[in-house]
Amino acid sequence: MVDPYGGRLVDRQVSDPERERRDAERGDLPTVTPAIDQLYDAEKIGIGAYSPLDGFMGSAAIASVLTTGRLPNGLPWSIPIHFPVPPDPALQGLGPGDAVGLVDPQDRLVGVLHIEEKFPVDRAAFARGAYGTDDPKHPNVADLFAAGDMAWAGKVDLLRRLVPPWDRAELTPAETRADFARRGWKRVAAYQCRNPPHTAHEYIQRLTLEREDIDGLFIHPVVGRLKKGDYRPEVILEAYDALVKNYYPETRVALSPLTITMRYGGPKAALFLAIVRRNYGCGSYIVGRDQAGVGKYYDPYACHRIFDEFDIGVQPLRYDESFFCRHCGWMASRKTCSHPDSEHGATSQTRIREALASGTPLPADILRPEVAAILGRPGGEVTN
Ligand SMILES: [Zn+2]
Repeated sequence: MVDPYGGRLVDRQVSDPERERRDAERGDLPTVTPAIDQLYDAEKIGIGAYSPLDGFMGSAAIASVLTTGRLPNGLPWSIPIHFPVPPDPALQGLGPGDAVGLVDPQDRLVGVLHIEEKFPVDRAAFARGAYGTDDPKHPNVADLFAAGDMAWAGKVDLLRRLVPPWDRAELTPAETRADFARRGWKRVAAYQCRNPPHTAHEYIQRLTLEREDIDGLFIHPVVGRLKKGDYRPEVILEAYDALVKNYYPETRVALSPLTITMRYGGPKAALFLAIVRRNYGCGSYIVGRDQAGVGKYYDPYACHRIFDEFDIGVQPLRYDESFFCRHCGWMASRKTCSHPDSEHGATSQTRIREALASGTPLPADILRPEVAAILGRPGGEVTN
């Protein structure tokens, strides 16, 4: 199995006695409930999903990532992980040497940030370096500007995991690695997604499972902060459960959610998402067309090329756009089908969303009936 990024899985989770001590001393600590994005990041740092990061980045690391695409030690890294100072006036005086407790929306102390640096963030430069644009209409650029222009850097101690609003455990990198080892998988391909599966997704998952160099497929949906029109995580996970249970050999496919805020950074986000999956034990990574893209900000195949520019020790499995060809009667791509566009059904979420919105039957040519039954239930999408 591929080793963790940087050679060692970071583990910033504290021991049980340490947690009890920190809980008892909570009253002595300034605390904050940061944006959920930062709580997700703090948890991922704590469980090693962002190895070799053991804390939030400082000014030198961010500058290095933005200008060279690498951490100061030379390891490729494409998206800065930073902690904007929250607006609470009581916290503005905190700086190097101070510690701040990170509290979740359920008022549980989940982590402690040991502040090593307080520094200004050039948000426009950050946006251009990470997302290739400073257009405030870009969702992550909008988030950057909505947060403050000062940041704290420092190591994170994780006291406890976040509580997901759905009834399913989110496996840690150590847990997925143990699971893959138990199954005897050596080479695992990660599948990044943020929507329920339709047959174009299934097609490239099957192509991957057919490869003789792949032992298992790890489906790892990103289910972070929700915005209007997103599918609810429960729906995405249940739909994937239905696909795995009804169609795939269960000995070859694993599934777990990943709670992080989606970075729509096109190629740089694709590279970041692949680095994270290496920490979960995946030495191969599926990259479709326009992965992690949004709007028209990115060349749809730039997410393929960036893997030639930076070697992150992960094998990219690059796939072209696939579609249902009426003439072939199968899923196909430009590599396997000679028929004109007029024969190709769009396999887009847009078609599914339009059918859901208008109450017309879901497109049976691109959805398994078990998946369609789950998507067709009311309340599957976030409406406000
Ligand atoms: Zn065809």
